[in-house]
Amino acid sequence: MFSFDNSYARLPERFFTRMPPTPVSAPSWVALNAGLARDLGLDPDELRGALDVFAGNRVPDGAAPLAQLYAGHQFGGWSPQLGDGRALLLGEHMGPQGRVDIQLKGSGPTPYSRMGDGRAALGPVIREYVLSEAMFALGVPTTRALAAVATGDRVLRETGPLPGGVLTRVAASHIRVGTFQVYAAREDVDGLQALLDHTLARHAPGAEGPMGLLRHAMAAQARLVAQWMGLGFIHGVMNTDNMTLSGETIDYGPCAFMEVYRPDMVFSSIDQFGRYAWKNQPDIALWNLAQLATALLPLMGERQAAVAEATEVLEGFAALHEREWRAVMAAKIGVSDIGLALELLDIMAEGQADFTNMFRALTVAPDTARDQVIDATRLGDWMRRWQEADPDRDAMARANPAIIPRNHRVEEAIAAAYSGDFAPFEALNAVLADPWHETEANAPYRRPATDDERVIRTFC
Ligand code: AMP
Ligand code: MG
Ligand code: MG
Repeated sequence: MFSFDNSYARLPERFFTRMPPTPVSAPSWVALNAGLARDLGLDPDELRGALDVFAGNRVPDGAAPLAQLYAGHQFGGWSPQLGDGRALLLGEHMGPQGRVDIQLKGSGPTPYSRMGDGRAALGPVIREYVLSEAMFALGVPTTRALAAVATGDRVLRETGPLPGGVLTRVAASHIRVGTFQVYAAREDVDGLQALLDHTLARHAPGAEGPMGLLRHAMAAQARLVAQWMGLGFIHGVMNTDNMTLSGETIDYGPCAFMEVYRPDMVFSSIDQFGRYAWKNQPDIALWNLAQLATALLPLMGERQAAVAEATEVLEGFAALHEREWRAVMAAKIGVSDIGLALELLDIMAEGQADFTNMFRALTVAPDTARDQVIDATRLGDWMRRWQEADPDRDAMARANPAIIPRNHRVEEAIAAAYSGDFAPFEALNAVLADPWHETEANAPYRRPATDDERVIRTFC
């Protein structure tokens, strides 16, 4: 089935705990991602016959299941030990496009579970499946969803018992800023060096040493966050344990694509101060990268000189991000004029425009853009100047999707799944696979939520 070559399992034993997944009582299929399977060189029919593997009831040949250790800053507060509390790395599959982690999420308790049950409710499994696959279709680096199964067991959550699920996640790796932090905090310099060598080989083969990795991570995050913001995406939990060294989006929890544009928007119920608001994401990325730099310091030679150099490198983040953000916005309005783009965002905020539909209207039917704002006076003036600048429509068509996963549609799919109906989930996946065209099928999914439908909080 998989062609495993488990390089992480060859790292020092203190990096993880080897253990098999905990079996579930009555697994059933929710989804198998046949397209992704084929891209990985796997036969979808064969995978369909291996429900027990995706449920965690059987360890496939060649796997070396383990829970990875990491630490992290959560909402700015230090947690010295996190780790895979409800996930296991099954192994690394060698596909036609290279090495990928195959991870089960919701596969049972591990030594890193703390107070948790090691399980995932079906709702969050479905949210991650829909959002990560939508993100991929939108052209943004992300972990993928290969499979989702219902466990037949119940998990207890704040709202009561819920059906459980297991997601099979595919990632370039699950190495996080927090993976480096845990060895730094333990003053385990050999561990840090081993992790650095491993990460460079995997994600930045051209880069050298800790400073090379830092620069690589900065470039990847500067770009990733600019891409998120250009789609109105709010990650929601940009803790250092949720930021990858591969530059892939990971851990879709209380995240969302916003509808009405509000730069200070958050969806997480626990983010009371808006730390991870849409507009704060570049600053948080830099804050997390500073934690990475701090963790790497012991590998950077003489401390004072290392601090000076790392600081100088980190000071380059603002310019890196600015360049990516300008490119994103230039494509979105089809004109390389960041002032013009920022003015539009300001008009959108004032006019309570739907983020996705405003840019799409400008792309495919500029005459209708005025309908997107409450008062079109300022927009009319802006549009005259924008038209004079002769916008590049092709660039706009590639940058402004017709559809994004709207919260109420995701919640609808989750609610239906809880009552045993997966049709809304499947329909949503199907339309999100092609976000770049208006079709008859996706018309209902382009409509923003009504006041009654609006979802203002999302949960992990
Ligand atoms: P997250 O908020 O999903 O990024 O998770 C933060 C930490 O909490 C990670 O170490 C997770 O493995 C752990 N965690 C989250 N949910 C559970 C759960 N239900 N059981 C055990 N650990 C969990
Ligand atoms: Mg161990
Ligand atoms: Mg996490």
